[in-house]
Amino acid sequence: MSEAKTNPPLLELRGLEKRFELDKGFLETLRFKGGRITRERRQVHAVNSVSMTAEKGEVLCVVGESGCGKSTVARLVAGLLTPSAGEIHYDGERIDNRTRKAMMPLRSKMQMIFQNPYASLNPRMTIWQSLVEPVRHHNPQMSKGEVRDRVSDVMRSVGVDPSWSKRYPHEFSGGQRQRIAIARALTVDPEFIIADEPISALDVSIQAQVLNLMLEAREERGLTYLFITHDLSVVQHFGTRVAVLYLGAICELADTQTLFSNPKHPYTRALLSAVPQLKDDRPNHIRLKGEIPTPINLPKGCPFHSRCAYARDQCRMEQPKAVHQPDGSLVACHAVEEDWPRD
Ligand code: SF4
Repeated sequence: MSEAKTNPPLLELRGLEKRFELDKGFLETLRFKGGRITRERRQVHAVNSVSMTAEKGEVLCVVGESGCGKSTVARLVAGLLTPSAGEIHYDGERIDNRTRKAMMPLRSKMQMIFQNPYASLNPRMTIWQSLVEPVRHHNPQMSKGEVRDRVSDVMRSVGVDPSWSKRYPHEFSGGQRQRIAIARALTVDPEFIIADEPISALDVSIQAQVLNLMLEAREERGLTYLFITHDLSVVQHFGTRVAVLYLGAICELADTQTLFSNPKHPYTRALLSAVPQLKDDRPNHIRLKGEIPTPINLPKGCPFHSRCAYARDQCRMEQPKAVHQPDGSLVACHAVEEDWPRD
């Protein structure tokens, strides 16, 4: 009897790593130590062995404090950076080792929305030129009329009046510019969107509108999102699953409801304790002491041990492995694995 074939996840990261060299030239790597000149390369460990999947149609959120490596994950997936190690698979095929030419067919399927809409809008082009350009590039067979209809439809669907077409990006408010950037991503009919803090630069009053627009686009077009944010209240309303990142490594990965109702990793608990809730029956705000250690010299053991109230000697010596929990979540913490008291 043949085995039933299951569909691969739309996105799969396997042990993804990204290190940035700090010393640019040979001379910068030389150090004088103990009366001798030695060579020592300093690297920023931005992403450390990240493994996760995004199924078709889901909103996988990546959260963490500033500098935790979440935007680097987005840029690696988008192909804007090359991984130092590990693999990226899209729809069952490895893509991190593809040439630019081999990536071309994927470019229209995978689009990125940035925190700053100017990153995808050329200030010297009218918004019509900015929106038409990717459609023509990815669909050279389309007639002028078809391109015009496609762009006008998308503009209307994101609340951008087609009569504004001749204006330039600077003539719009931040919220309108982000709508135009979303329209630009949607004009090529993508299936996967990488959104890097897409609402954090907008006024609070506009954030909900843009978020709702992205949710509507997901429902209408069956989109899958990799959504990078530092804002847990956004995750709670938008995400289907959440990966919590600390110093470039995943400390907890769970579906949104499980994470918010039963956070397990001490870092996740501290983050969630700061999110205001209507019905707030959780323990008091957990105040994290100390700064995030520098990613240049990663601490031995658990990356969180210098700020964790439950740290023991084992935490300082041994890096915890991500372990599956009975509720399906994945947690990297000795205290959770060995059931130390944490209340
Ligand atoms: Fe805290 Fe230790 Fe768990 Fe790290 S492994 S989060 S230091 S208890």
